[in-house]
Amino acid sequence: MNPSKMTIEGSGDPVQLKRIFSTLPKTEMHLHIEGAIALDEYREVVDVPAEWTPPGWATDYRYETFKAFEDFILGYADSWYNSPERYARSAKSLFQRKLDEGVRYLECSFAGIVCQMKQLPIGEIVDAIRSVVPPGLEVRLFIGLHHDGWIPETEKPLTDMLHLKNLDGIDLHGPERYPVADWMLDYWPAARAAGKFTKAHAGELGAAWHVREAVEKLGVSRIEHGFRAVEDPDVLELLVAHKMVLDVCPISNFKLKTVASYGTHPLRKLIEAGVICTLNTDDPFIFGNTVADEFVVLGSEAGYDLKTLVQLARNGFEHALVTDEQRRTMLDEFDASAAKVL
Ligand SMILES: [Zn+2]
Repeated sequence: MNPSKMTIEGSGDPVQLKRIFSTLPKTEMHLHIEGAIALDEYREVVDVPAEWTPPGWATDYRYETFKAFEDFILGYADSWYNSPERYARSAKSLFQRKLDEGVRYLECSFAGIVCQMKQLPIGEIVDAIRSVVPPGLEVRLFIGLHHDGWIPETEKPLTDMLHLKNLDGIDLHGPERYPVADWMLDYWPAARAAGKFTKAHAGELGAAWHVREAVEKLGVSRIEHGFRAVEDPDVLELLVAHKMVLDVCPISNFKLKTVASYGTHPLRKLIEAGVICTLNTDDPFIFGNTVADEFVVLGSEAGYDLKTLVQLARNGFEHALVTDEQRRTMLDEFDASAAKVL
């Protein structure tokens, strides 16, 4: 659909879109705690001028390389995330910002490799983050496990993690190295057997067959990014057949140059193929984005119509990890709010 075909008043105008999507209740399914540090927290560990903001906050900024983005995160994450108290502080301010954005349901992950390198107590970190969840926000917490982050002697911590009651699931982080490592083939099913939800990052930097591996070998129900699935019609079919949900982050993809432009982002092809997608910020401290901004760029720069955007927002509630009763309540609130804009 192109902008000239849009019939609903309000579509395409970034100011109106921002107003609409700031007001709608929203979900956020793909967010890294380390990429969501607050600016004042950052300033406590990195010396920058008073007026400084991250370069990625400029709407047209694009990281030269993926490594430059990783180096930026490592530049503060290593100093900041050194205790359960620090995680709790960051999570508390993050949760409040998300509530202020109109987010009702949030799935976020923290990087296991950071804890592993610094020998931080994962159980205490999980409890610390859980303890600061405010009323009005449902939070599901995931640990991100690095592709090559775990070695045989860490088997016990891996097993112990599956018994942490405040940990809701696992995610696969790190450079998209496929085929998946042997330890993952047992661990992902073991996590599900222990009642944890499983997801994986795939198909952002890596090709469509990585997405297939995440589905077929790890058995995940959710893919983070996954947009390169469009490169293989069979993988697209697989995603539809498995009712897989892709948590897509257009602004992150644009600013990391994993897509050429918003207009050519494969999200449109995913939707047309019948793949269920949600919109998310990924690393809001790095990219300077809110969830509403994701809808704004698609409506104003890629010609998405309002109905499609509203359905993308609704998808988050449809696939949130909540009870049927909670889902009903969330969808009722969403539909009442959406009815006013459609
Ligand atoms: Zn991510």
